[in-house]
Amino acid sequence: MFPFMIRIYGIGGYEEVGRNMTCIEVDDEAIILDMGLYMDRFVALQEKDIEMSYENLLAEDAIPYDGVINHLKNKIKGIVVSHAHLDHIGAIKWLYSRYNVPIITTPYTAEIIEKNVKVKKLIRVNINSGYKFSKNIAIDFINVTHSVPQASIINVKTKYGSILYGLDYKNDNHPIVGRKTNMKKLKELDDVLLLIADSTNADEEKKTFSEIIAKEMLRDIMLGMETDGKAIFITTFSSHIARHKSILAIAKMLGRKAVFIGRSMYDYIESAEKLKIVDFSEAEKIKIPKRSSKKLEELNKKKNEYVFIVTGGMGEKNAVLTQLADGRLPLKIEPQDFIIFSCNVIPTPTIQANRKILEQKLHRKKARIFKDIHVSGHAAREELRDLIKITQPRHILPAHGSIDKTAAMAALAHEMGYELGKNVHLIQNGQSMVI
Ligand SMILES: [Zn+2]
Repeated sequence: MFPFMIRIYGIGGYEEVGRNMTCIEVDDEAIILDMGLYMDRFVALQEKDIEMSYENLLAEDAIPYDGVINHLKNKIKGIVVSHAHLDHIGAIKWLYSRYNVPIITTPYTAEIIEKNVKVKKLIRVNINSGYKFSKNIAIDFINVTHSVPQASIINVKTKYGSILYGLDYKNDNHPIVGRKTNMKKLKELDDVLLLIADSTNADEEKKTFSEIIAKEMLRDIMLGMETDGKAIFITTFSSHIARHKSILAIAKMLGRKAVFIGRSMYDYIESAEKLKIVDFSEAEKIKIPKRSSKKLEELNKKKNEYVFIVTGGMGEKNAVLTQLADGRLPLKIEPQDFIIFSCNVIPTPTIQANRKILEQKLHRKKARIFKDIHVSGHAAREELRDLIKITQPRHILPAHGSIDKTAAMAALAHEMGYELGKNVHLIQNGQSMVI
């Protein structure tokens, strides 16, 4: 038999943006990296109003199919989680109990996981620190900028070299929360066997702009336009603590108080405050608007004194912005009120359709709508080129994207001297490869 050294299993995220899950087998041990949801299918399933069981989620393609690593059950030493986005942690709730191993992650990610699922053994490792599984496998959480606190590139250290799990990263030179990407550490690595590379924006020929640009875009609208007497509603990703911080600062400049509304937003902010990552004590936070009618009635009377930051940028049917657009809450949207979408639209069928419906409702309310006031958390082609240049991996495995995106990553690698099938590899969900 061929004496293999390392086998990589692409379980999810190799055919879509989301549902991320990879397994790395090193001789007689293995670790799992991430257990994420495919948000489009998850949202579609929620709307069907059927039981959120493992079987139903699997049938809908909302969670990764991990049957391909069934034979490794006794080898798996742990589940390592890169950051707190649902397309990386959301499937833990359904898959975790199938493995009797600890979850290892950064403190903020651990907080968010614990809000959603009871984990028997959760090991917290500070960012830019490491954890040792055995004499053959150790990991480092290398700090990167993304769009949620304490995001990391995971360096899996083996006796054959390092494997960099580099999904969800950008090189932001002016992050609003947290430190810059640890380029020093990345540059010091001298034995990178494989880079598992973020392909989400590999087809965009540019550098992804800093988060500070998103702040300037918001400032341009909120401070530069005729907002007098009008309410300002902003929606963004619940987990985007840096964006929340920017909005809070601009609201203050405008002389308005910030009010965060929505369960997931509340949870992400509460965890960030608990770990002293931010201090949002000046803002109001409302977890479940339906249970806060009195409060919302009060706020509605002097709407123009506030900036409301609400969930629902993807048009989710029960998120706060849809409830507002439907007139289901005591807080009302009136003609000429500002609705700012500080997010992009995830380009998948269910989400695009939901978002379109929401926009139509807002147009009927005669609101002023501002779309795409946003910068991405994912590196584009030219930052990815830098990452390859400084880490010099012997092999590249594009991930976190549909085939057109992973192919764009492969094309970049090819341009940089790699050869398809030899040292740049394309795999689909359920496939594995040996290095
Ligand atoms: Zn992410």
